[in-house]
Amino acid sequence: MKFLLPSILLTILAASWMPDAAPGAGGQKREVGDLIAPSSDLILLNGKVYTGDPGRPWVEAIAIRNGVIQAVGDSKTVRNLAWSSEAVSIDLGGRFACPGFVDAHGHVASLGRTMRSLDLVGTGSFGEVVKRAGERIPTLAKGEWVLGRGWDQNDWKEKSFPHHEALSKASPDHPAWLVRIDGHAGIANARALEIAGIAKETPDPEGGRIVRDPGSGAATGVLIDAAMSLVTRHIPSMDKAQIRKDILAAQSACIAVGLTEIHDAGIGSTEIEIYRELDRAGLLDIRIYGMASGNLATLRRVFADGPILPDPNGRFTLRSIKAVADGALGSRGAALLADYADDPGNRGLMTIGKEELLEIVQWAVQKGLQVGTHAIGDAANRMTLDVYEEATRGRRGDSPRLRVEHAQVLAPEDISRFDRLGVIASMQPTHCTSDMPWAGQRLGAARLSGAYAWRSLLQSGARVASGSDFPVESENPLWGFYAAVSRKDHDGKPEGGWNLSERMTREEAIRTFTVDGAYAAFEEGSKGTLAPGMWADIVVLDKNILKVEPAELLRTRVWATIVGGKVVYRTR
Ligand SMILES: [Zn+2]
Repeated sequence: MKFLLPSILLTILAASWMPDAAPGAGGQKREVGDLIAPSSDLILLNGKVYTGDPGRPWVEAIAIRNGVIQAVGDSKTVRNLAWSSEAVSIDLGGRFACPGFVDAHGHVASLGRTMRSLDLVGTGSFGEVVKRAGERIPTLAKGEWVLGRGWDQNDWKEKSFPHHEALSKASPDHPAWLVRIDGHAGIANARALEIAGIAKETPDPEGGRIVRDPGSGAATGVLIDAAMSLVTRHIPSMDKAQIRKDILAAQSACIAVGLTEIHDAGIGSTEIEIYRELDRAGLLDIRIYGMASGNLATLRRVFADGPILPDPNGRFTLRSIKAVADGALGSRGAALLADYADDPGNRGLMTIGKEELLEIVQWAVQKGLQVGTHAIGDAANRMTLDVYEEATRGRRGDSPRLRVEHAQVLAPEDISRFDRLGVIASMQPTHCTSDMPWAGQRLGAARLSGAYAWRSLLQSGARVASGSDFPVESENPLWGFYAAVSRKDHDGKPEGGWNLSERMTREEAIRTFTVDGAYAAFEEGSKGTLAPGMWADIVVLDKNILKVEPAELLRTRVWATIVGGKVVYRTR
């Protein structure tokens, strides 16, 4: 197929590639095929490039200057147009490329921390958790905390929350705090409970639960949602230098799986400061769209000077707020309209009052800020939608693009409200495939029809932005893509997929991981599709993810990740 560029563009291209206009003119000549290119004058040739641009979905080649796409088309035309002696060209060798992936909901510093803390993902029993925690002790200083993350009682034979006894025996002197996979519960040992001052008579804090022994009423060590802070506030806070290291380690992990932007869902003032410093120093390889957490007083301080929008070469944006309406389904903290099917009398936990959320949203909308509210259960989703409706009633002008983070369990009658109110559903396809073995027990068959209901939302006209919620799930967007299109686990189970009618097509899934993620950050005009004038945020893969067998998606590797025209990752 041949593409002809309009003559006006030809003129612009010819002018902009005059030698004196070329960045780096006079510098040394670079070898064709050298992947380490500067942020300008890069040409990608001979690819199978899916642009996401409905007007021109497939091209072979892309010319990039100053980080921005200047031309797309067939290799011959782009090569002839774009060539200057300074340009670096990369032969994609027929590989598949597409817009760089956006993770619309991840936790960057937390991923870095998880990468260096005790990894409890996949433990087969609480005994194994205790064993791994015990192995950590000889490496610790006197009294240092044993910290870990990733256990999931749903993976164990007994399937019930653990009791701290064995952990306390294994670690009598070191306080231990081991967080559940979803980050919404954790288990403390006796030493940690003692430091936290948690005794039999300690009341449950608002929005949290101290799990207790049904006989004695004593704490079992498991703390849910707001109760977690009874312990975590005593963990010596990590210093800024450590958080910075964690962010940089996570960044490396993310670009290696093809992510070019992350919406960091809930950051405090230290992280904001670090991101600004990294950005100024040119050390952000990935774009970060920050969502600030905190109560209204904190948020007023954070946004005292309004939103932070990046300068033309900046990578850090802060114009969004993260609120939390409830807990998570795995720990039965998600707020439901009716009782948990497997825990009569329990409807989960609402972690913020409607009035408080409304006050935050009204303030944010008036300040030109976005709000993304964590809502998992159908009650929390309804409350959040009610608040959004009230806060935007009668409003004119551009949409504030309010978001619901997770939107996991929806009452069927609330699904159409997303499109009607212009609310973005920020969802994580891998949550579905991680939760599917037990979601039915928590919810019962009837409520499953509104759970992880991507297709229903898309069909209603809503915009879905996909993410992973890493480190709760893997940061690999291709795992999310696989979950979105197959609704199967990595062993291909269940055969036929779980509630398959809710799956996405591949084109839809790519959209939710690219341009709709960009939309959720007000950036669809500058990224998410590959067309002239857009940022050159591109991922090159070793397989065509629009074509290969679903199982092959899990074996697809990133060949190169390009952010703003700079190759930030390539396979060795
Ligand atoms: Zn999250």
